Amino acid sequence: MTSEFDIIRRHFTRPVKRALLGVGDDCALIAPESDAQFAVSTDMLVEGRHFSAGTDAARLGHKALAVNLSDLAAMGAEPRYATLALSLPDADENWLAQFSEGFFKLAAAFGVELIGGDTTRGPRTISITVIGAVPPELALRRDGAKAGDEVWLSGCTGDAALALAHQEGRIRLDAGALAHCNARLHTPVPCVALGVALRGVASSAIDVSDGLVADLGHIGERSGAAIELRFARLPRSRALKTCADERLAQECLLAGGDDYELAFTASIDARAKVEALAGKLGLTLTCIGSVGAGEPGLVSVYDGNGKPIQIASKGYDHFGG
Ligand code: ADP
Ligand code: MG
Repeated sequence: MTSEFDIIRRHFTRPVKRALLGVGDDCALIAPESDAQFAVSTDMLVEGRHFSAGTDAARLGHKALAVNLSDLAAMGAEPRYATLALSLPDADENWLAQFSEGFFKLAAAFGVELIGGDTTRGPRTISITVIGAVPPELALRRDGAKAGDEVWLSGCTGDAALALAHQEGRIRLDAGALAHCNARLHTPVPCVALGVALRGVASSAIDVSDGLVADLGHIGERSGAAIELRFARLPRSRALKTCADERLAQECLLAGGDDYELAFTASIDARAKVEALAGKLGLTLTCIGSVGAGEPGLVSVYDGNGKPIQIASKGYDHFGG
């Protein structure tokens, strides 16, 4: 019989370099860093809610960490440490080996040390807490957007939602488009380098996890500002361009979620800096709208002629309609 302690030792104990003490004691020990604040965030993935039973374990290990690192990216923080709380229906060695492989591969790519966690039997649930470092006063918060700022988006939205739409039979993607969209859905890459580069440039930032309109609404609420989004400016991936159902395309772009891109605001004066860092990082950064003085939190979407677009759904809300 595999015990809880076998699982931890075999699959989740790795040497640490930065931490003072890693897995194995009652607590991990980490040292404060000079000239840095710690940014801390937790994200949970629940089977049946965030992923379906039978989801590839390696991809799940990757995604569970990736969605957390995306929060650090949105804060402009550099990843340092993670803890992992796992609830599992059984001690499936194969599943554990694959899950930890997916997790540690991404952790290594972003310099994250796993320093602790908890392991228990129960419905399959993965809860990760990440800790990152950011210089004092330079964290990218949601509450810094000012009327007159421009709204920017990295990459493009909609691909993950398009993969789901294919799964649900709402669209048939060709093999190339499907492979691209599935990769975006299952193995998102957090925008850590962009977040770091936006320190001192962006006035606010958020990662797009629940849907572009919903997440921009969070910036608006926290900043006490309204957001005006220009739908025609939203970049579309090659896969999304093959979608002939414009209603579905619009839904994916505006409310799809699971994008893990960064949406941020910056003053008009910062435009040259934003464009320069897009070139430096080899990323597409697109100005998709502006911050207005209207009702705080309100996101208005306009078409190419400046006419308001009514949208059915803003994004995902676990307890909303
Ligand atoms: P405690 O009983 O004090 O909560 P545990 O027996 O739960 O301790 O855990 C023993 C050690 O293993 C601790 O250092 C804990 O942080 C670590 N740990 C437990 N589960 C995991 C996991 N899934 N990933 C990483 N570390 C873990
Ligand atoms: Mg414990």
